[in-house]
Amino acid sequence: MPVKNRFAELHPEITAWRQDLHENPELLFDTHRTSALVAEKLKTFGCDEIATGIGRTGVVGVIRGKSDRSGRVIGLRADMDALPILEQTGVEYASKTPGAMHACGHDGHTSMLLGAAKYLAETRNFDGTVVVIFQPAEEGGGGGLEMCKDGLMDRFGIQEVYGMHNWPGLPSGSFAIRPGPFFAATDIFNLEIEGLGGHAAKPNETIDTTVVASQIVMAAQTIASRNADPVDQIVVSITSFETSSKAYNVIPQRVMMKGTVRTMSPKMRDLAQTRLTTLAEGIAASFGATARMDYTRNYPVMVNHEEQTEFAASVAASVAGSCADAPLVMGGEDFAYMLEERPGAYILVGNGESAAVHHPEYNFNDEVIPAGCSWWAEIVERRMPAA
Ligand SMILES: [Zn+2]
Ligand SMILES: [Zn+2]
Repeated sequence: MPVKNRFAELHPEITAWRQDLHENPELLFDTHRTSALVAEKLKTFGCDEIATGIGRTGVVGVIRGKSDRSGRVIGLRADMDALPILEQTGVEYASKTPGAMHACGHDGHTSMLLGAAKYLAETRNFDGTVVVIFQPAEEGGGGGLEMCKDGLMDRFGIQEVYGMHNWPGLPSGSFAIRPGPFFAATDIFNLEIEGLGGHAAKPNETIDTTVVASQIVMAAQTIASRNADPVDQIVVSITSFETSSKAYNVIPQRVMMKGTVRTMSPKMRDLAQTRLTTLAEGIAASFGATARMDYTRNYPVMVNHEEQTEFAASVAASVAGSCADAPLVMGGEDFAYMLEERPGAYILVGNGESAAVHHPEYNFNDEVIPAGCSWWAEIVERRMPAA
């Protein structure tokens, strides 16, 4: 089955929603306009129940099928937030807010799920209940976790949950997925080295923090190369290195470093945190300096459940003709929290040849809309077939 005819009809309307959202990006939990617009549309579609303020600015809509003999409840989730990037697409509907931009395509995700909600509320050709979930703050704020903490799954009786993300480089409107670990755990750390500052011409009277910190940067590379099992994925990157002095002739008292750790299993995550801390403290101590590690566990590994992944892939194949095997992604995705609470699956939909997500020239490809909407609708109609 190719895309549903109804979505070909709705394509211009959904595109207009998408471009309006693109013009009005909002960051993290501050998705006030977007959330209000989503709630308003869900109301117009005739959703049976609409809840706002879940996970601060999250919105939820409930759509009941023609019958409910199955007693099944499926959650469909989209993200709504933009990124702090200065847009350089040059499109006529470019961001009206300098420094904020829909550079990850969440404008497309929100619009496609709205399109699916409109269709599902119109047709109700299923036996059970659909819960459409619109979350804020995917880009670092953990909006998915906040919605879960607000009781999203229990309150709406969600039994399974599905998510979708556009993917530049994958042919437009095609799909890719993988079972098991899919997106990485994304931890962050701040590391401060304290030594003894002094005159650059008298290093013997100082404890040179730049030398100590440099040893730590190099040693951190051995976590991936010497400590981790070579078949396990792990990335340790130090991304910021700042000294407390900017002068030519001063050995700085302190060095502040920042970085991120990406792993695909709890074992690798524990290993990275332990080794990074041990190396930093040990190396600093051996030079008479001190290291203070502040390590934050951010999004967990996002794990696709076997059965739901197989189902999601078969639906994708019916919409697009086939479904590819997706690669592991070392980026993070806070849908991980929802998949920790309920079985489900997360799929990639091709954005065609476009700039990468998070790039100032990236733009969601509106041609993807009918395929994305059809996947959502088919998930519902095939998982909960009308009695
Ligand atoms: Zn993103
Ligand atoms: Zn994204």
